Amino acid sequence: KITNHMPTAELQAIDAAHHMHPFTANDELAKHGARVITRADGVTLTDSEGEQILDAMAGLWCVNIGYGRDELAEVAARQMKELPYYNTFFMSTHVPAIALAQKLAELAPGDLNHVFFASGGSEANDTNIRLVRRYWDLMGKPDKKVIISRKNAYHGTSMGSASLGGMQGMHAQGGMPIPDIVHIGQPYWYLEGGDMSPEEFGLMRARELEQKIDELGEGRVAAFIAEPIQGAGGVIIPPDSYWPEVRRICAERDILFIADEVITGFGRTGEWFGSQHYDLSPDIMTVAKGLSSGYAPIGGSLVSDKVAAVIGREEFTHGYTYSGHPVAAAVALENLRILEEERIVDHVRDEAAPYLAEKWHQLADHPFVGETTIVGMMASLALTADKSVRKPFKASPGTVGYMTRERCFGNNLIMRHVADRMIVAPPLVMTKSDIDTLFERAVKSLDEAYKDVKEAGLLETAD
Ligand code: PLP
Repeated sequence: KITNHMPTAELQAIDAAHHMHPFTANDELAKHGARVITRADGVTLTDSEGEQILDAMAGLWCVNIGYGRDELAEVAARQMKELPYYNTFFMSTHVPAIALAQKLAELAPGDLNHVFFASGGSEANDTNIRLVRRYWDLMGKPDKKVIISRKNAYHGTSMGSASLGGMQGMHAQGGMPIPDIVHIGQPYWYLEGGDMSPEEFGLMRARELEQKIDELGEGRVAAFIAEPIQGAGGVIIPPDSYWPEVRRICAERDILFIADEVITGFGRTGEWFGSQHYDLSPDIMTVAKGLSSGYAPIGGSLVSDKVAAVIGREEFTHGYTYSGHPVAAAVALENLRILEEERIVDHVRDEAAPYLAEKWHQLADHPFVGETTIVGMMASLALTADKSVRKPFKASPGTVGYMTRERCFGNNLIMRHVADRMIVAPPLVMTKSDIDTLFERAVKSLDEAYKDVKEAGLLETAD
């Protein structure tokens, strides 16, 4: 029997023999073996060597309430005993799905009063492709099929959701995007803004949406999908001019707007939803991750009254076996209760995020750091070889970021890299003292990585 108490090397060998890892450099994995995580509590992971690791990524941006909350385990056990599974197809429903749907309608901004459940964000975004195309069919506009998204966006990993995403490395491996999904530029000023001010650049990138609609013809465009802040793209916080201009364009054009809030939802930005932070009014909102704080796999599409009324006219031939899974729904509901009753969103807005921002921006003084950006509890910094210019490294993108991440891991800090940006999105329950630890380890890791990069001759800017 395989247990937490087996020697790490043995666990790693069995893992390597049988377990195919998602988004993992398989060649590196073969050399080093995976780090075996055995327990977690609060904001700290424990590995099979007994190391205590500060998880500044909340798993995959999802463990908003922190690890080790017994209430969720108890709710899951109770629900498994009472009704472990039933579907919500064919005129059936159950209490956890009813209660969670009502709660989401109450929490969501505007008239997003309806939810179509899925097991995660990828499935929910696949649902969104179906929903918007179905909506326009029923509206008598079947030519409105094209969904406009953005380069470097991440919307999931299935064929549909990865096509919505703008990750070239993913498209190249799967014959994507699928037809009728197109991508415009991202509002990433630091490396793409050239001589423009952030505000000019934000407007320019927003207007690419309008240009794309004109180029395709409004009669062909179904929807625009975007994360309020691109997460997996590198925590790309758009210039202030960007969202108001997109809002104007969406209001003037006959298209739907899908806000993908898989990361920005449930307190991450210091509001319940990122749409509230940027004053957006989506027709559809994708949720997952923080919905259950990662304790159970669940996601969904929150749908406005306008869209739901049309979809509701007849059968929508779509659904997942686990849509509204009772155990996952009960766990999500308990997670929302904790977020609400413990005023965790207020904690983010009033305490944790301002303190993290103060510390994070101090990193901008480091010679290795070109810019620091943060909204709520999601932050990133650009590594640089030369602070006086906004340019990438000469080495291929990600080389320096990977070296830096390795130093972070070595210092028991989970901080990720996206190309040569370093990113954090910690559990929302972080205290000031946790943030101090994060900062100390980040500085140490940056110092070490800076030295490594210099010694490897990689501290050089691209021409
Ligand atoms: N959308 C966004 C913005 C995400 O960040 C992710 C996952 O990271 C997804 C969708 C996909 O969610 P899942 O991994 O639950 O399928």
